[in-house]
Amino acid sequence: MDSYPVTITIDGPAASGKTTVGLMLARHIDYLFLDTGCMYRAVTLAALERGVSVEDEIGITHLTRRLEMDILPAGVESDGRHYTVLLNGADVTWALRGAEVDVNVSQVSTYAGVRADLVRRQRAIGERGRVVMVGRDIGTVVMPSATLKLYVTASKEERARRRWKELEGRFRDASYEQILAEIERRDQIDGNREVAPMRPASDAIIIDTTNRTPDEVIQDILALEPFQPAAQN
Ligand code: C5P
Repeated sequence: MDSYPVTITIDGPAASGKTTVGLMLARHIDYLFLDTGCMYRAVTLAALERGVSVEDEIGITHLTRRLEMDILPAGVESDGRHYTVLLNGADVTWALRGAEVDVNVSQVSTYAGVRADLVRRQRAIGERGRVVMVGRDIGTVVMPSATLKLYVTASKEERARRRWKELEGRFRDASYEQILAEIERRDQIDGNREVAPMRPASDAIIIDTTNRTPDEVIQDILALEPFQPAAQN
């Protein structure tokens, strides 16, 4: 049997390609894929739905601890989803991608209590092994002893272009300039928060996806030493 790295972490900024690459890699090596961003989004959506202010750190921390969250493989759904997110039993997969969640999620993600609760849930999944876990702090905080850490990035203009194409027709008619400004704002909050700021782990391999297709990026990753037959014995 192949013995790839037990846990693979992929961190990086919004729309860097980390989810696409993480999914393709997980399918290729038959690993579980876990997008931790959807957990922070689920907390944000729950707060918005229940009228808890995103400034209310204590209220949101309490809410997080009570939330029942499930992330399931996409199954037979054919609406383009990569996985299904259930929040207290309700399917919120697409609601998590709405503009209001986008605008507020980075604020919610700064709260230490929210992070502690979600990190605990993420570790419980990571410790079972055979997982590709994607986020902002997976290599640095959630799974610091992971066997392979990648940090996927791209220029902010390319990221904005990708997000703009992705959102076209689905949710909003935001302009490219608005999306670029939103990406810059999120980078700023995610990279400068006190708890678990977004940054590559010291032992992460940096993958720049600017001007590269997902297939090219996957080929680069599979060419890394941990995936070579000699490294698997
Ligand atoms: O990856 P995605 O854009 O869905 O993440 C949404 C937000 O969740 C990020 O901008 C960040 O604020 C937060 N996040 C985080 N730590 C993670 C994953 C996401 O703080 N591990």
